[in-house]
Amino acid sequence: MYNVWKNVLAEVEQKVSAANFSTWFQDTSLISTENGSIIVGVKNSFYVKQLRSKFIDIITDSLIKNGIEVKNIDFEVQSTNKSKVRPREVTPFPDSIKSHTKSIKKTFESKSNNNGLNSKYTLDSFVIGSNNDVAVAAAKSIISSPGTRCNPFFLYGGPGLGKTHLVQAIGNELVKNNPDYKILYTPVSQFYSDFIDAIQNGKGKDFNRKFEKLDCLIIDDFQFIVGKEKSQEEFFNIFNNLYQLNKQIIVTSDRLPSQIKTVDERLASRLTMGGAFDLQLPKFEDKCAILRAKAELIGAEIEPEAIEYIAENVNTNIRDLEGEFSTILLMSEVRGLTPLELIQNGSANINHIRKPRLIPSKQIVEKVAKYYDLPVKEMCSKSRVAHIKTARQVAMYILSKELSLSTTKIANEVGVKDHTTVMHGIKKIESDLKLNFTLRDQIEEIKEKIYG
Ligand code: ADP
Ligand code: MG
Repeated sequence: MYNVWKNVLAEVEQKVSAANFSTWFQDTSLISTENGSIIVGVKNSFYVKQLRSKFIDIITDSLIKNGIEVKNIDFEVQSTNKSKVRPREVTPFPDSIKSHTKSIKKTFESKSNNNGLNSKYTLDSFVIGSNNDVAVAAAKSIISSPGTRCNPFFLYGGPGLGKTHLVQAIGNELVKNNPDYKILYTPVSQFYSDFIDAIQNGKGKDFNRKFEKLDCLIIDDFQFIVGKEKSQEEFFNIFNNLYQLNKQIIVTSDRLPSQIKTVDERLASRLTMGGAFDLQLPKFEDKCAILRAKAELIGAEIEPEAIEYIAENVNTNIRDLEGEFSTILLMSEVRGLTPLELIQNGSANINHIRKPRLIPSKQIVEKVAKYYDLPVKEMCSKSRVAHIKTARQVAMYILSKELSLSTTKIANEVGVKDHTTVMHGIKKIESDLKLNFTLRDQIEEIKEKIYG
C-alpha cells in the first residue's frame, strides 16, 4: 500500500505546486483500495476539506494512472493526539463521510448488537433553540414512553439541520434506559442495499424477520426511497407490522411524504399520523449557543466576538456552521493566532462566509425583478397578482437576510406602505422555503447573480 501511494503522490507532485504538495499531501497515506472504495489517511479534518474541494480530481487521476480502480474516495483522519483542539469531535466531515461508505458495505448479517447507533450523538450535546424546541419535546416524550405518543415520529428539514443527530440521540437514550430494547437505525440507502442483497441471496424472509423482532425502527433520509418500488413495498409492510404492535417508528426526510413523488400516497400519508415535526434554520442566537456548546465540549478557547462573527456569517446550516468553526480553530492553531485575530486580519476566508455586504439595496431589488422578468416598477407596485407578489416577497426576504435592513427600510425599497406587510412577506418566504425546493433554488440563483 505504501509503495502504491508513493507512486500516486509522485504523479500528484507533477500536477500541483511544490507549496501545495508539501502543505496538503506530505502527511497523507493510503488506507484502503478495496472494491474501488479508496480511503486516504490525513492528519486532521482541515485537510479533508481542502483535499476534497481542491484536489479530488488530481487524486482520482493519479490513482487511475497507477492502475487503481476508483469508485469513490473517502478521507479518514489519523489522529495524532498532538493537537490542543480535537477536531474529530467537532467536525462532522470525517465521521459522516466514513460512515456513509461503511454503511453501504455493512450487511444486515452483522452482529446482533450492531444497531446502527453512533454513541457520539447524544441528547445532551443537542443544543435546544427556537429552531428545534418542538421536535426536541416530541423526542423527549418518545424517550419516556416509546410507541405511545408521536408514533410514528416523522422529522423533516433541510440538510445539516440535525435530523440524524436527533433521531440517533433518541435511539441512544432508549438503549440507555433499557439495554434489552431492540432497536435498529438504518439510512434508507442501507435498507435498500440490504434488501437487494437479501433478495439476491434468496433470504428475503430472513430480512423481514429481523424487523419483526424490533421495538424501535429508525429510518433516516426517507426521501431516497424514490424510485425504489420494491423497497417501498417492503418498507411499508414492515411499517404496518411494527405499527400494529405499537412499536416505535422514527422516520426522517428532507421533505414531507406528500412531496416524495413516487411513494404510494396512501401509505406515505401514514408516516405523518403521529405528527410531522420540522427542524428549521437556526437563528443568530441559536447559532451562537451551538458554537458555545461545541467550544465547551472540546475545551477550545474562542472569543465571544469570533463566535458571533461565525454565527452571523454562516447562513446555510449547522453542518457548515460546525465546519467553519473547526476550520477556524485549526487555522488558529496552525498560525498561532487566536480565532478573533485570524478574523481581524482577514485570514478567516472560508466558504460559507459570505462576501462583504457592500451590495446596494437598489441593486438587489433590480436583480430580483430581472430574475423574474419584471420591470422594477411592476414588482414594487401594489399588484396582488401571484407571481408579482412572490417576486416582491423574495426581494423583501433577500434584503432582510443579506443586508439585515429593518422592515421599515425594506418597505421603502419595495414600495409597500406598511412594515408589517414586509414582516408577513418575509415570514411567508421563510415558511415556503422549508418545503418548496424550486423556490430554494431560485433564491440561491438570485444570490449568485447578486454576488457573482
Ligand atoms: P441532518 O441529518 O439533518 O443532515 P445532522 O444530524 O447530520 O444533520 O447534523 C449536522 C451536524 O450538525 C452534526 O454534526 C450535528 O451533530 C450538528 N447539529 C445539528 N443540530 C445540532 C444542535 N441542535 N446542537 C448541536 N449540534 C447540532
Ligand atoms: Mg442526516
